Amino acid sequence: MAKKAKVTPMMEQYLAIKKDYPDAFLFYRLGDFYEMFYDDAVKGSQILELTLTQRNKNAQDPVPMCGVPHHAAANYIDILVEKGYKVALCEQVEDPKQAKGMVKREVVQLITPGTMLNRKGQETKENNFLIGIHAGQGEYGLAAVDLVTGELQVTYLNDFAAVLQEIVSFRSKEVVVDESISEVELADLSKLPILISKQVAQEAIAEVSYITQNLNFDVEIQAVQHLLMYLTVTQKRTLSHLQKACHYQATQFLKIDNSSKRNLEITQNIKTNKKAGTLLWLLDETKTAMGSRMLKQWLERPLLQKEAIQQRQQMVQVFLDHYFERSTLQSELKYVYDLERLAGKVSLGTLNGRDLIQLKTSLEHIPQIRYVIEQLNTGEFNELLAKLDPVQEVVDLISQAIVEEPPLSITEGGVIQPGYHPELDQYLDAMANGKKWLAELEAKERAATGINKLKIGFNRVFGYYIEVSKGNLAKLPEDRYQRKQTLTNAERFITPELKEKENLILGAKNKAIELEYQLFVQIREQIKQEIQRLQQLAQTIAQLDVLQSFAQVSEDNHFVCPEFNDQQNLNITAGWHPVVEKVIGRQKYVPNDVVMKQEQTILLITGPNMSGKSTYMRQLALTVMMAQIGCFVPAQKAELPVFDQIFTRIGAADDLISGESTFMVEMKEANYALSHASANSLILFDEIGRGTATYDGMALAQAIMEYLSTNVKAKTLFSTHYHELTALEDELPGLSNIHVGAVEENGTLVFLHKMQPGPADRSYGIHVAQLAGMPNSLLHRANEILTILENQDQTTELLTQPKDVNLAEVQTPVAEHEDEVNHDVIKEDLGQLELFVPEEVTTTKNLSKQEEQVLKAIQEADFMQMQLFDIVKLAIAWQEELKK
Ligand code: ADP
Ligand code: MG
Repeated sequence: MAKKAKVTPMMEQYLAIKKDYPDAFLFYRLGDFYEMFYDDAVKGSQILELTLTQRNKNAQDPVPMCGVPHHAAANYIDILVEKGYKVALCEQVEDPKQAKGMVKREVVQLITPGTMLNRKGQETKENNFLIGIHAGQGEYGLAAVDLVTGELQVTYLNDFAAVLQEIVSFRSKEVVVDESISEVELADLSKLPILISKQVAQEAIAEVSYITQNLNFDVEIQAVQHLLMYLTVTQKRTLSHLQKACHYQATQFLKIDNSSKRNLEITQNIKTNKKAGTLLWLLDETKTAMGSRMLKQWLERPLLQKEAIQQRQQMVQVFLDHYFERSTLQSELKYVYDLERLAGKVSLGTLNGRDLIQLKTSLEHIPQIRYVIEQLNTGEFNELLAKLDPVQEVVDLISQAIVEEPPLSITEGGVIQPGYHPELDQYLDAMANGKKWLAELEAKERAATGINKLKIGFNRVFGYYIEVSKGNLAKLPEDRYQRKQTLTNAERFITPELKEKENLILGAKNKAIELEYQLFVQIREQIKQEIQRLQQLAQTIAQLDVLQSFAQVSEDNHFVCPEFNDQQNLNITAGWHPVVEKVIGRQKYVPNDVVMKQEQTILLITGPNMSGKSTYMRQLALTVMMAQIGCFVPAQKAELPVFDQIFTRIGAADDLISGESTFMVEMKEANYALSHASANSLILFDEIGRGTATYDGMALAQAIMEYLSTNVKAKTLFSTHYHELTALEDELPGLSNIHVGAVEENGTLVFLHKMQPGPADRSYGIHVAQLAGMPNSLLHRANEILTILENQDQTTELLTQPKDVNLAEVQTPVAEHEDEVNHDVIKEDLGQLELFVPEEVTTTKNLSKQEEQVLKAIQEADFMQMQLFDIVKLAIAWQEELKK
């Protein structure tokens, strides 16, 4: 065994501390630097691009080390935490000059992705949720806390897949688990791009019973409990701003799975991951950070109760009807800073003087906001009005205590207002008036002694003194004057009064700084008492802000208030896709109706590529979401049922993260919809089955529609490029065809973007290729092939002479133009197909296994139930087999 290297006392201390933080980078304070050692140093130097050095270079095994200056540490910490790591901040907790032996050091905070506070200040419009989960008997508790705002949302869920969905919904960066979570579940969890933290055992926390007061489910309380423990362990400070846990149930809200949200670009642009071009982007006319966050939360959870939705609608309507009050409200809201964040800072002790001024400014505008709302003079706002509490005590306190323009630092003085505290006033006075006092004192002493040449002076060694020339000494009163220094021609004295002034002047600055800090902490503690009022106010402001934003957006974009019915009647007149319209302009957008009566379940949409099928489908989903968050909707008139869930299978964006093929994702999403949808759900299937071979795809598409129409009965929009499917209208009750019109003008295609009843007449694939700018010769050739194919389809050539046409080549073009085929002709020709089966193979004797399968398939096939191309496919395959 290698001889154990001798460890210095410092490294001993380091290792002892590091032992408790194995999964974090330990930033070990050493003078003006934070140092990392061993593996932390190796890894840290790579990530942060720092120079890797060694401690004890000459020793047997030197220690790898790297460091960052303490004043720049915040940036480095941000980088590590953004990348999903934890950083343990270890400080010297005693004055090195007074320390006996090693300076005591302790970890003062563990910074993790879910507990990060100041992300360069720009993220205030986003929540940062840290999630705790706990498993019970077949159910899970989930608690999500935002450490900055103090919000704590809690729910329970019945299966782990739903837990995962919820975690993604919160866009959490970190999840805290306890032992109740199984290995299998942990493995699933680890597929998400989040940090999984194990809960650290700790004594129960005093606040728990207050915070969990409104919770009834054990799994929820447990989840909150271990989340709080984790917070206390990592933050090491009070968490008095945490709000009472608020229970919610996912089933109380319109459910929309995460991939649908992504597809529909609700809050995140699918290409850029940014907000621009999303529904949130369009709807966000909020003026406060709190409003912006709440809007996002509303979008995550549209409502299901008609009454609750209508309550919001009524308030939006009031704002629409009161232009003047609305614009006054808007300009007042601009002065309201992020109250939740400020309250969080109060509690976490990260508040400075400027924050207090922001708080005061915000609160000072509450009375005006109250006034505006009162002016509306309608009952709708009574509840909110009651919660608009200007927290006057806090305004008064800050006005009295804090200067108008305080510095950033709270440890260098200049924060507290003169007149707030007598002792501080003296110090401030001393600092400001020192000279004047001395001049006054000088004059006073001259008068008292009659020595005109008496003067007050200062020297570094002796401090302040009164100088009297030797000749005048006799005039001095014995009692007050105390000798300090003797010069050749003069003596210097001090008096009690001068001594006092000296103390004041010299000590004033330091004392002022110290006292100011103490006062500041007291003020912070006083405000801490009002945190719940501030939070309630913040929530109220946020609601008003979102509602005025709805009104503003609805007015600007000519939205209309939707009406709800319980008859599953969907009737949208002249509706539009709000984001596409915004982007391409109102003039260019062709509005469309969406009409689905109670008994209607499927609208089958056909039409050329790029004609607007996908846009039409998304338009409906966005309209539904907007309606159910209480906003008005993009249409001339809208009657809607209240939907319980929205499912989409849209676009072909590869799910690269999970490494699955497009088709697999497509089928998974479709399956998810089929198995979870109810009759009150909305399903959008956009060109489903496109990701596989034509026949598979078409067969699946048809089967899915049959299943939807007989089993699920959800309102479904189904777009397809398989024109054969339009024949289903005759067979499936509740299915109607619509198509997007296009007209040909001088050989080019003009899309009308207008939905019309009935199936599309053809597919226009080649025209789209032309629009895309393909070479003319290629397009010409494509037209030739098309003509051949169309002619072939008119006869049974394809069936009888499959060798002429290569199957692989035929598949796609045929699929695009199958609508040209006359179904009746083919159906009549089925007889011929049967004739074509030679006598000797109708028995299964002497057949290869493959031939046997083909034959069996043909015999079992119910031709009348099959779609044309399945038949053609079978026939061709059969011919091929026979030729072998
Ligand atoms: P499809 O799904 O049929 O291929 P899309 O829905 O993707 O077509 O629409 C293609 C483009 O046509 C859109 O990007 C949009 O610019 C435009 N578009 C769609 N619907 C309309 C409409 N109703 N009015 C005007 N332009 C539209
Ligand atoms: Mg499309």
